[in-house]
Amino acid sequence: FLSNPPLTLEKNSVSVPPESQNFHWHGFTQMADFQNIVIERAEGCWLTTTSGQRLFDGVASLWCNVHGHRNPKMDEAIRAQLDRVSHITTLGMSADITDQLAERLAEVTPGDLKHVFFSSDGSSAVEAALKMALQYWHLKNQTTPSSTSTAKTRYLALSSAYHGDTTGAVSLGGIKYFHQLFAPIVFTPVRGPLPCSYRLPDGIRDATACDYYAHEIESLLKQHHAELAAVVMEPLVQGAAGMITHPAGLLARIRELCDQYNVLMIVDEVATGFGRTGRMFACDHEGVTPDILCMGKGITAGYLPMAATIARPHVFEAFLGKSSERKQFYHGHTFGGNPLAAAAAVASLDLFRDTQLTETIDAKSQFLRECLAPIADHPHVGDVRGRGLMVGIELVADRNRKTPFDSDRLIGRNVCERATELGAWIRPLGDVIVLMPPLVASNEELRFLADTVTRAIEEVLADID
Ligand code: PMP
Repeated sequence: FLSNPPLTLEKNSVSVPPESQNFHWHGFTQMADFQNIVIERAEGCWLTTTSGQRLFDGVASLWCNVHGHRNPKMDEAIRAQLDRVSHITTLGMSADITDQLAERLAEVTPGDLKHVFFSSDGSSAVEAALKMALQYWHLKNQTTPSSTSTAKTRYLALSSAYHGDTTGAVSLGGIKYFHQLFAPIVFTPVRGPLPCSYRLPDGIRDATACDYYAHEIESLLKQHHAELAAVVMEPLVQGAAGMITHPAGLLARIRELCDQYNVLMIVDEVATGFGRTGRMFACDHEGVTPDILCMGKGITAGYLPMAATIARPHVFEAFLGKSSERKQFYHGHTFGGNPLAAAAAVASLDLFRDTQLTETIDAKSQFLRECLAPIADHPHVGDVRGRGLMVGIELVADRNRKTPFDSDRLIGRNVCERATELGAWIRPLGDVIVLMPPLVASNEELRFLADTVTRAIEEVLADID
């Protein structure tokens, strides 16, 4: 794969005619200087463009591919389900494969998480969790919904949070460019800190960071617990915030605080779930069982759209009653629990079990870090961080002061474009270069990814002032 013909991308050329031929409008992408890469086929960790170039899938098709593309077992399971039924509603009936999946998810998720509510994408899994938490308190406290009462109707979200692009998820969000624009149509969460291990506040060291942030969050809970339905957070790593890693132990501390202040804990494992961090779920690193857990992306190993919100029995049981009591969860998606996606998800769980893939991630992660060790010393590399095969390389103007580059210089984007020309498809988050390969990537492929990114960083930052 190293003899790939090179791709050439034209940079920053605003050449769009008044009537653009871009029928396909891409998310988070400036269409005016967009150079499309069209994929015709994919196999394993490699994508092949319509003009025959091969690209390493360095971000696992937006953080979701697990077992590689065209895995024969995955393909076979989807084909077999296609011969049975491809879609039915799962409001009031279900496909056998979807029920089977729910049971399997209850087995692999932490603790007594058990009752699975299906949706089609990560944002919707978060929306379901928000509404579930709100209706839970309404049912439990037997309150009448009212637009004037704030009791158990608010959420605590961390700074720089990202939980998706639908309106409820955007309300939780705290990333300037993604979220500020939509302020007029969203609700306001109680805003927690950004527990960033790289940029700790003055006087705080690694050893005291967990206590510091737990204390910050406790102060907010003390003040707002009566209003709060739930704390919502990504566990261990805030992905879209720039692979921000939390101090070890913080997740478990927040679990304790939620119990102490009688607030539900919603953990968003859309990015971290399904082996990505070296455990099936990131919560497993700290033995935490949230009240509600959201998953998406890797659930079908990246083959078909599906997401899920899984709740513990005490949450589910609050919704039980006679039909006339109208306690049912007032939420539901047309494609939630789609049987083809369920077949893919069950096949993926079988593969996890049979290949013991999760157990390989720590070693792969360490190998990738070793390959990246030389670039970690580059004068413009501030930090190489993450967990498992979820890695961020932060590029900075001044390494000692940790000063970012002026964002208008698009350094991260230029590095990723160069890496793509060199044969590895990656996408940045600002000036954080994200490496999220499929979990089955071999050491040889991980080395290719690391070498390509190293070369792209060295070239783009060669003469930077
Ligand atoms: N939560 C987290 C933590 C995510 O990383 C993402 C997607 N990057 C989402 C939610 C939203 O998922 P989707 O794009 O499938 O709606």
